[in-house]
Amino acid sequence: MAITEQISLINKQLNDSPARLIVVTKTRGIEELQETYAAGAIEFGENRVQEMVEKQAVLPKDILWHQIGHLQTNKVKYIAPFIHLIHSVDSLNLLKEINKQAAKNDRIIDCLLQIYIATEESKFGLDFSEADALLADSEFAGLKNIRIVGLMGMASFTADETQIRQEFQSLADFFQKLKNNKTGLSTGLVEWIELSMGMSGDYLIAAELGATLVRVGSAIFSPRH
Ligand SMILES: *Cc1c(COP(=O)(O)O)cnc(C)c1O
Repeated sequence: MAITEQISLINKQLNDSPARLIVVTKTRGIEELQETYAAGAIEFGENRVQEMVEKQAVLPKDILWHQIGHLQTNKVKYIAPFIHLIHSVDSLNLLKEINKQAAKNDRIIDCLLQIYIATEESKFGLDFSEADALLADSEFAGLKNIRIVGLMGMASFTADETQIRQEFQSLADFFQKLKNNKTGLSTGLVEWIELSMGMSGDYLIAAELGATLVRVGSAIFSPRH
């Protein structure tokens, strides 16, 4: 019941923005995912491959699965048959493996480039110049079974709203620059559509600043035991 109410509350809050809700279901049990689905949500985000694969096997097939956490190249093959969108592409090497596994499954897999916008020490994501370099790489241009459809970023873990705004704004500005410059469009592998930013603590700020996808977990579910 609480899950249903939270989802409808968030969807109402997002009504005036282009942002869609991805329900982050990581660490949640099958019953909670079934309740989420019953509430009408069909876009689920997971960050661990094995957990996603196990859940995908037993849940309705019209759920759209989003890989939001760091993805190791040796795990790509497990999600390649069904994954809807991979948010966490942070290297050409990973992209090549996604391309290879997508080809094996005779499909094209949509991806976002994960951009590093937080000030804190973190392991994952490209900076702006690394993203530019990837998109200009001749090896990238040769891929056939992936599509880059946008960017993903995470703000610093801080209560300082000004800082969070600055970080999201920097990602939104970079997204706009790629759009304006039609970066990568000549490869036929790129469309600048999705901007994935915002979590439980900051999704309203993200939506205000142009997010098209927000990834919300803990604000929907009761605290983990
Ligand atoms: C866990 C996670 C989320 C959701 O975080 P909440 O604070 O629970 O809403 C969003 N994005 C990523 C990449 C995550 O790992």
